[in-house]
Amino acid sequence: MMGSASRLFLARVPAELARLDYSGNPYELAALLRVRILEGEHPRATAGPPRIMILPPDVDTFTVFHELMHVLMQLWELERAIESEVSESAAHDHLEAVTDHAARLALSLTAAPPCA
Ligand SMILES: [Zn+2]
Repeated sequence: MMGSASRLFLARVPAELARLDYSGNPYELAALLRVRILEGEHPRATAGPPRIMILPPDVDTFTVFHELMHVLMQLWELERAIESEVSESAAHDHLEAVTDHAARLALSLTAAPPCA
């Protein structure tokens, strides 16, 4: 169930990725967004300050994008609004689903060949 905050967030992600003009490497995106990366067992992210992502050493690309999408959502102050689109008990799962959706979007944009 996507509410208006979710739709706003998902519409803003491709625009932001295009604006940043990065190569498609999520670590480059992290650097452009000035997100510091620390090693840890469980992936998580905060826009802080300080802006930090915790990633396991063997993390997959999708998860890096997922955590970056959490950072963007927080930076744009949409997290609370997205959580409020559903009941309190469903809020966490909803937030994760929207973040996954954004990560798939970022990954699909990354996979696309560059414009000629
Ligand atoms: Zn998450």
